[in-house]
Amino acid sequence: MPSMSSLISRIRWLVLAAALPGTLLAADLQIEHVTIVSPERATPMRDALVRVHDGRIVDIQRAGSATARSRRDANVIDGSGLFLAPGLIDSHVHLGEIPGMRSDQEAQHPEIARAAWDQIPRSFLLYGFTTLIDLISTPQGMARWKSHDIAPDVYFCGGAALMDGYAMNYAPKPQRYQSWPYMLIEAGTQAPDGIDPALHTPQAVVSRMKADGAICVKTFFERGFGGVRNLPVPKLETIREVVKAAHAVGMPVLMHANSDEAQRFGLDAGVDILAHGLWNLYQEHSTTSEVTPGIKKILDEELARNVGLQPTMQVLYGLRDVVGASFLSDPRLTRVLPSNLIDWYRSPEGQWFHVAVSEDMKLPADATPSQLEHAADEEFASVIDRGKHVTAYVVARHGRILFGTDTPSAPTYANPPGLNGWLEMHRLLEAGETPAEIFKSATLTNAQALKLDRDIGSVQVGKRANLLLLRQDPTQTIDAYAGIAKVILNGRVLDPADLAASAAHKDPIDGK
Ligand SMILES: [Zn+2]
Repeated sequence: MPSMSSLISRIRWLVLAAALPGTLLAADLQIEHVTIVSPERATPMRDALVRVHDGRIVDIQRAGSATARSRRDANVIDGSGLFLAPGLIDSHVHLGEIPGMRSDQEAQHPEIARAAWDQIPRSFLLYGFTTLIDLISTPQGMARWKSHDIAPDVYFCGGAALMDGYAMNYAPKPQRYQSWPYMLIEAGTQAPDGIDPALHTPQAVVSRMKADGAICVKTFFERGFGGVRNLPVPKLETIREVVKAAHAVGMPVLMHANSDEAQRFGLDAGVDILAHGLWNLYQEHSTTSEVTPGIKKILDEELARNVGLQPTMQVLYGLRDVVGASFLSDPRLTRVLPSNLIDWYRSPEGQWFHVAVSEDMKLPADATPSQLEHAADEEFASVIDRGKHVTAYVVARHGRILFGTDTPSAPTYANPPGLNGWLEMHRLLEAGETPAEIFKSATLTNAQALKLDRDIGSVQVGKRANLLLLRQDPTQTIDAYAGIAKVILNGRVLDPADLAASAAHKDPIDGK
């Protein structure tokens, strides 16, 4: 006889199923005869049966074993010839804005904005990203993301920027003080009108983040670049206090640090993860893009202390390609961006960031496409090269590489959702990571670094059913993510054909 609690839970199921007609809540999911590829396994598990109940993996066994049999009460997928892998995690994204579109432009083009917001979550899923970490967000930002019918799971860090420092400098005053609720105000600094500095000490900021549901703290060490220079940076003691407060409540601390000076500072402050490769050289006077003795010293210490590193090499390509003239012709964009958004990017208004970066580079306004391509290559070649060499140095020594893209790193259309992750994988391959290492960086390593490995990061009983059914083995080729068979999000089976932006142009012949 069923116990009272199981009766109650069955009743709850019926109520839920009735309340949400057409969803897959009613039945379990069973994937049969599939090959499991998971980062904690030395070898794939062939001919496996995986059972999913209530959005979690509840059973894994050999398909041929005595207790394994097809169950009529489940939605069964024949996984013959397919690989089952954990969904990918991008541990560095920014989800608050449409890439390349300012909020005032968004307000002027509500139809384009609606299409974009509808598509962005699907594009991440299309390339296998079932979990995203927004490194600068708020509960309000997260609620907006979660309001989409189909969207990757999302977590956030609070952005502990120094008052008026990077990256809050880009927002106008005084609105920036509202949009950066976790800013730090150091002792001896005049607080803005109406802001109580006691609420902006390291301890107060970290406590508030924790209470708001953040899983991590994002800090910054950046004096500026492009047209912005001489921004204030935090004192070492301030960030040490942030780290202490964060660790006391179990939160890892990330630091925006892309130079020798910044990574040295991050090491001294004791942060857990350095966001970005070391591609700017400020302390050492050298123009080489090779790993210099000064860089080597910093990287060796990062390796010795097992600091997490997010190379985010697409950041630089996202700037290079917004200056160049060919990116918007890439046919892959039509899979991840609605056509009206691509058209808008091509318009004079949509070219605003291209104009801004070109002006920073002092390019003539009437430069031809080939002049632009050439200038973009020249401008970014040395930082791209240094980023690659630094990543290669760490990869060769088995450093703790976390997969993160920083999508979008700036208001650039050249960091498109989902596709940008796949492009980052190509950069990591160029820096020497194998497909198997990239797979691990983007799953278990990320999950462990962000303390999410109880729930995600591998195909194991008890974990959330965020899974990918792939036609190729992802430990052998990153092409596996470019033609995914099915994306499974908390047990819900999604067809990539329905996730692609171009799906909007197809006839809905299958009645969905
Ligand atoms: Zn970022």
